[in-house]
Amino acid sequence: MPEKPHLTGFSRAELGELFAGLAEPRYRADQVFRGLHGRRLMSFEEMTDLPKAVREKLNETAAASTLTVDSKYISIDGTRRFLMKTHDGYPVETVFIPTENRDTICFSSQSGCPLKCDFCLTAKLGLLRNLTAGEIIEQIIIVLNDVYGVGGETPHGTNLVAMGEGEPFLNFENLIKALDIMSDENGLFIVPGRITVSTAGIVPKILEFAKLDRRPNLAISLSSPNEAQRDVLMPINKRWPIAELLAAAKVFEKTLKRGERFTFEYVLLGGVNDSDDHAADLAELLRRHDLRKVKINLIPHNPAEPLDYRPSSPEQVRRFKEILESLGVSAYIRTPRGRDIYAACGQLAAKTV
Ligand code: SAH
Repeated sequence: MPEKPHLTGFSRAELGELFAGLAEPRYRADQVFRGLHGRRLMSFEEMTDLPKAVREKLNETAAASTLTVDSKYISIDGTRRFLMKTHDGYPVETVFIPTENRDTICFSSQSGCPLKCDFCLTAKLGLLRNLTAGEIIEQIIIVLNDVYGVGGETPHGTNLVAMGEGEPFLNFENLIKALDIMSDENGLFIVPGRITVSTAGIVPKILEFAKLDRRPNLAISLSSPNEAQRDVLMPINKRWPIAELLAAAKVFEKTLKRGERFTFEYVLLGGVNDSDDHAADLAELLRRHDLRKVKINLIPHNPAEPLDYRPSSPEQVRRFKEILESLGVSAYIRTPRGRDIYAACGQLAAKTV
């Protein structure tokens, strides 16, 4: 049976065309857009500003939501992990990370992931499928409604990170479309400045991304300063090696405005890529590529069976940061969140606990 169109993934222009096709006035499209995104309603029945006949017609021909929440886990640190399923049964995971001054929602761009990063649990799933723009947006709606109630105000705004399951730059079109819809001021109104997209290093897409004029922040997962080691840790390096990746990063850097920066993520694996020499080599690598508007996010490895890595000691994490800073590179240590419920970076593999 062909799926009904999922209107959450429709731009305002596309909704306009749909309603023109139904011989309904244009403002109905705006009402539905506001209902889905501004009021975060997940059924047409609740859109009581629409005539009953229109709601019934929409119900027969379209979907206002397609994901179901299978389970929800709450960490001792307040992080929530939502394990959802698509209409055709694929897992989607979304994580809500509260902090004092802001909340962050970490969403998935794909179900599973085709990349084979050796330290990441999601890699073990393989790629199940790309998520649609509607499925990407609906994750955010479900989480916001869970935390703040349907349509409730988000007290300190929300930051979004495309750091859940999947490689966002291998689902580029749907991702960009979703972000565009989410930035609409009549909808979720989450502007690009509050969004960060993380890539393992899909070079052609970094270059394409650099050309967008309204675009989110960029993070690149690097995790080694050395080609041979990165080939092992992140096999995507064989396709686009560090040298090409950093050349693309430089092209991107040139498009940044004054004061803007971008991020390299570096997963610290105990005894593997966390030595003093690795830190010095990393700083030297950035210097050689003339990358200046960067900061490094150091992510202590989150262990999970069957991954064969252990986190670096807290002392070594601090040393690594200090060496980078002594060489003029800003570095931040990311506090792991939600480890106890398999919600931390690299732990998303649709686990039930
Ligand atoms: N595919 C994209 C988006 C995923 S973001 C990317 O690779 O950037 C997830 C982040 O968590 C990446 O920086 C990844 O390197 C990191 N990561 C993966 N496994 C991890 C683990 N077990 N512990 C800590 N960080 C991990």
